[in-house]
Amino acid sequence: MYILSCWIEHPVRSLDRTFTYLSNTEVPRGCRVQVVFGMKTLTGFVDSCIATDETAEEIEQRLNMKLRFIDQAIDPQPLITDELYELAMRMRETTLSTAISCFSAMLPAKVKPGSTKHRIVMERWVSVSENEVSLTPKQLEAYMYVREHGSVLYSELRKKYPNQARSLISLNALNLFEKEKTGSVVISAGTSAKPELSALQQKVIDEITQSDDTVFLLRGVTGSGKTEIYLRLAEKALDEGRQVLILVPEIALTPQMIERVSSRFGATLAIYHSGLSAQEKYEQYRMVMNQEARVVVGTRSAVFLPFDNLGLIVMDEEHDTSYKQDSQPCYHCRDAALFRAQYHHCPLVLASATPTLESYARGLKNVYHLIVMNERINQSMPVVHIVPMKESIRRGESYIISDLLKEKISERLEKKEQIILLLNRRGYHARLKCRSCQEAIRCPHCDLAMSWHRDTGLLKCHTCGHEMKVMKVCPSCGSTAGFTAYGFGTEKLEHEIETLFPKARILRMDADTTSRKNSHERILKSFASKEADILLGTQMIAKGLDFENVTLVGIINGDDGLARTDFRSAETAFDLLMQACGRSGRGEKEGEVVCQVFNPDHYAVRSALNQDYETFFANEMRFRHAGQYPPYTYMIAVTFSDVKEENAMQRALQFMQRMKGNFKTIGVISLLKIHDLCRCRVILKGKDLDEMRKAVREYMESGEFSLKGLRIDVNPMYLD
Ligand code: ADP
Ligand code: ZN
Ligand code: ZN
Repeated sequence: MYILSCWIEHPVRSLDRTFTYLSNTEVPRGCRVQVVFGMKTLTGFVDSCIATDETAEEIEQRLNMKLRFIDQAIDPQPLITDELYELAMRMRETTLSTAISCFSAMLPAKVKPGSTKHRIVMERWVSVSENEVSLTPKQLEAYMYVREHGSVLYSELRKKYPNQARSLISLNALNLFEKEKTGSVVISAGTSAKPELSALQQKVIDEITQSDDTVFLLRGVTGSGKTEIYLRLAEKALDEGRQVLILVPEIALTPQMIERVSSRFGATLAIYHSGLSAQEKYEQYRMVMNQEARVVVGTRSAVFLPFDNLGLIVMDEEHDTSYKQDSQPCYHCRDAALFRAQYHHCPLVLASATPTLESYARGLKNVYHLIVMNERINQSMPVVHIVPMKESIRRGESYIISDLLKEKISERLEKKEQIILLLNRRGYHARLKCRSCQEAIRCPHCDLAMSWHRDTGLLKCHTCGHEMKVMKVCPSCGSTAGFTAYGFGTEKLEHEIETLFPKARILRMDADTTSRKNSHERILKSFASKEADILLGTQMIAKGLDFENVTLVGIINGDDGLARTDFRSAETAFDLLMQACGRSGRGEKEGEVVCQVFNPDHYAVRSALNQDYETFFANEMRFRHAGQYPPYTYMIAVTFSDVKEENAMQRALQFMQRMKGNFKTIGVISLLKIHDLCRCRVILKGKDLDEMRKAVREYMESGEFSLKGLRIDVNPMYLD
């Protein structure tokens, strides 16, 4: 008999420990089992399995408790390898989450601990049997068809030989068997040629391959040829018989990256991102597990794929906030990547034109091996023009498109070159305010102003997605005077461009035009094949795109991000501007950028327009030091949410009283209501992250407090 200790899938956080069960068969660590827990049947994850000669009664007596047998083992083989098991335990510690939530985050939906809805999709196949059977000529033809192909989908055979397929099976000439479905994801092969490396690219590659360091921070300006470096390093790892993981921020930039990677590595490539269906993700996961896929391009969760021999991990745009998961466990992909690189003794290349301050500070202190590329492959940086909007509006110019931008757009249209326009806000009007009381219309579930969208004619909340008609009566004061529109988004920008340049062909790309599957890809393909002159959209068009015919980038409300109150707001505004400027003039033709801003003198704006990371870094580090923000300190944000504000507040106050140690507690702060939940937050801030973690864990494990609606974010990306 075997004694199993299992983590049980359970929403109650205080039950984050293993429970003991008995089993007649051996079930290795990392397999799922079905168990009865209390009155319920739940899924467990095996932590350990120990063989014993004792009887059930003897064990119960020794442990002094009643034990149950598991109902059944779900997986024949472990889903979680030893390496991933260790990583899950590490994540549990560092993110202060439950073990089961960590396992869950690592697995595709089809095999998550509690997934009963997602059935594995099976397909029926046929192959020839050894039996000797006499066949009619037509049956023989069908039989030979299967023999030639080895095995054939039963549905395909039925289509080809509708009258023979079934009889061949009943005659036992063919065997019918089931196999997990594959092949749902079709990767379009690119055709890009392999360029000769520049001297700088070669130098960077040599520096990485000849070093024994694990983590490299590659700061390279946009267009410096970083992607080619990844591809060459990947080639080398594959030649050594090892696997490669290329992490990218979000789906928006994957199509171009996928094409570039697939043209080199073809069939051995798997892709993994949130745009795939559960079935597609599962198939890609199996391909990695079976070693069919040796190169993976994927977003955050791809870092947990079951590789067993990694030779390289690349994290492109390492500063991107999508690498941080914002639900429990709030892990950062970089930490998981670092763990895996150390485990596999392979290099981890963190790359960006604008590394996070945390990473760059580590680079300067030689914790990471820092490599800098300050030149573009084509040796030319775009010319940047700043339009101070306060002045241009005072001169009577449009508050959407300044005269300068208008002029530059018509120039480029005339030359048949392409234009990218960035406005980081979607919808038509940003908000509607009552003409009588000046209150904005807010989402009934959140405390936020709703935007008005022209394509649906409805108000929309960008936080919870709630939509509604514009009311006749003001919900705040009851007046029927109507509403005035303030602010504008991409829909209105599109409308404005259509009016100014009626002949221009325009594509809009934002969350509203890309909600359908593959729509990103379609828009980008269409722009790449010059079916449009202007691509306009939100931050999703600022990143990673590489179109050689784009010679003008216009940035509207470029410093919008500075209006946020977050400690990282200058950094995010700077990143976005740098990235946007990086889209212009990447080919042979010289590029230009027109940037409309309200704070032309802010250091984030100035340094971005000079493409000068170092100066930004120096200024921003001074600000972070003065406020004692990361990277000078660490933070843990703890949020309590409840439908009743006073409950959330009371629990936050209790929590704060318990937090004693060599760190600061900041709060309690009431945050905006979201999804009908009131939220109260306490922040711990200090130099010793482990000490702060320990304090929070003690609170959680004391058993004195309900942990419902508790959200813990270690090293939060945002605070607003
Ligand atoms: P980054 O990722 O640093 O922004 P990319 O890798 O996208 O830069 O390279 C910018 C452009 O330069 C791309 O169009 C790419 O095809 C091209 N490129 C990269 N390396 C070379 C090279 N060695 N020779 C010629 N063109 C190159
Ligand atoms: Zn009103
Ligand atoms: Zn809402």
